Amino acid sequence: MADNPPLERRRFDTLILGAGGAGLRAALQLSDSKRRVAVVSKVFPTRSHTVAAQGGVNAALANVVPDNWHWHMYDTIKGSDYLGDQDAIEYMCRSASELVYELEHFGVPFSRLANGRIYQRAFGGQSQNFGGEQALRTCAAADRTGHAILHTLYQQNIRAKTHFFDEYFAIDLIRDEEGAIQGALVMDIESGQPLLIEAKTTLLATGGCGQLFRTNTNAHINTGDGMAMALRAGIPLQDMEFFQFHPTGVAGKGMLITEGARGEGGYLINKDGERFMERYAPHAKDLASRDVVSRAIAVEIREGRGLGENADHVLLKVDHLDAEVVKKRLPGIRDICRTFLHIDPVNEPIPVFPTAHYVMGGIPTNRHGEVVAPQRHGPEEAVQGLYAAGECACVSVHGGNRLGGNSLLDILVFGRAAANRMATYLQENPYHRALNEASVEQAMSQYQRWQQSGEGETVDHLRAELRQVMESHCGVFRTEDVMQQGVQQLQAIRTRMADVSLQDNSRIFNTARVEAMELQNLVDISMATMKSALLRKESRGAHSRMDYPERDDIQWLKHSLYSLQTDQVDYKPVRMKPLSVDSFPPKPRVY
Ligand SMILES: Cc1cc2nc3c(=O)[nH]c(=O)nc-3n(C[C@H](O)[C@H](O)[C@H](O)COP(=O)(O)OP(=O)(O)OC[C@H]3O[C@@H](n4cnc5c(N)ncnc54)[C@H](O)[C@@H]3O)c2cc1C
Repeated sequence: MADNPPLERRRFDTLILGAGGAGLRAALQLSDSKRRVAVVSKVFPTRSHTVAAQGGVNAALANVVPDNWHWHMYDTIKGSDYLGDQDAIEYMCRSASELVYELEHFGVPFSRLANGRIYQRAFGGQSQNFGGEQALRTCAAADRTGHAILHTLYQQNIRAKTHFFDEYFAIDLIRDEEGAIQGALVMDIESGQPLLIEAKTTLLATGGCGQLFRTNTNAHINTGDGMAMALRAGIPLQDMEFFQFHPTGVAGKGMLITEGARGEGGYLINKDGERFMERYAPHAKDLASRDVVSRAIAVEIREGRGLGENADHVLLKVDHLDAEVVKKRLPGIRDICRTFLHIDPVNEPIPVFPTAHYVMGGIPTNRHGEVVAPQRHGPEEAVQGLYAAGECACVSVHGGNRLGGNSLLDILVFGRAAANRMATYLQENPYHRALNEASVEQAMSQYQRWQQSGEGETVDHLRAELRQVMESHCGVFRTEDVMQQGVQQLQAIRTRMADVSLQDNSRIFNTARVEAMELQNLVDISMATMKSALLRKESRGAHSRMDYPERDDIQWLKHSLYSLQTDQVDYKPVRMKPLSVDSFPPKPRVY
């Protein structure tokens, strides 16, 4: 617009979008090596969703029972239902102990065993000796591990002089004509002013998209913005049909009750008081993989063994445990129950239901955090200057189903790996490339788009409908017709989005603009999820098709890639070859 002041511009070596665990771990690495690092976050950094992580981070420290990274690797591959890339999984599991000790030295106050070592608890899908006895691999700071990690990383970044842009909203990536990424356009939420941050390297660390579903365990800010920015920049999203439903969300509300509650000895019962997981997973029982436990709960309820007025939940018992264990190891859970349910889990079981929790899919990367995308005429290659790490990325270490405790590990391992790769890139590419003004203009048009309001429904209204569609058409169990209808409904929502209203008493607040942009992002990601799910005609990990109940390794042992521009899903092979050990070929998955 002619009478607007010129667009403000800043320059950094590295731009990191997102100040959760992944963004802050990467920022620390780069700031410590004297790079100029900008971290942009739409909320104050320590409010990022990492802060809510409860149960802990996996590393085979063997502090309680024998353990090693190779067993961890096996469990992760089996947990992924063989869709995880085995080179990346080996890399993650081998790095785990070092990353946890590093955190300890940064100052994370881990809980302790009597002998002073880091406390470790049992989590789902963990075994010793490739499928043997339960392992205890999850390092915890009571049930507030994410809080401890995020605050520590933030403080370390302050020491290292990372430059923070707090409460700035990233709108779109800037690309040059060859597709190399040159930074991003962001908006200062307080003033509403746009700001162009030019950078030689850009890291997407924007976290997950739990807000796709009506009931979820996620923060309100988890709207998949970085994933949608990648889609708009022509990068496909990988494996979006794999969305994890956590078995124990508080029924009807969604707050998470950590798997650590079962790790400490809690278990699930149905209305007959039966410990039903013994039927579904005779060996691992309540500590089977999350997809297995969530489906078991859904089946119990469908077959009429749920509790409550609508027979719509089961119960999680921890009241048989020593009250001191609950108070010491699960204080946050006790708080949640007392605040939101007015019960004390020391005396009463907790009503729970599978709740949308974690996106396994995301922006495709290799194990160095480089974003890889198919080129227009040829095989996939790293996108110059662009990296992704954390929940928004798909490395893929979680494949079809993530193990509890592996996400905090993922964000640390690949946050650091991406930073190391960026440091090398910066050495080889010391200068900013000439900025592509056409791309800046395009990003600005995205910004301008939300300066005006439409006349139609409100953002709130459309968002509620979108989340309801996703919940009822793309939930724990899926079928062809229901998803077909879902696609149509999403298309209708996309059309109505064009005229969405941002006005509140004829004023448009900056927060309304942010919410509109978030909704637009959710719309694109929901389509990626529903389309990829519709086309995958098998059941694997968290993707459970009633009409195709078996896993089909012959046809479907491959990653999906949804592209926004073509609205099509393509596929690429799973990397079955680890770095140094033999691969784990697919076999039937029982717990
Ligand atoms: C309740 C809960 C409990 C969990 N417990 C565990 C656990 O015990 N163990 C485990 O391993 N995993 C756990 N997880 C999963 C794990 O916590 C997350 O996957 C992980 O923390 C994600 O980290 P991240 O750095 O990728 O993103 P987040 O921590 O989500 O950070 C995302 C960042 O991106 C920023 N951002 C996003 N969009 C924009 C934008 N447009 N502009 C600017 N900034 C933006 C946000 O402000 C934020 O700073 C849990 C998850 C939840 C929800």
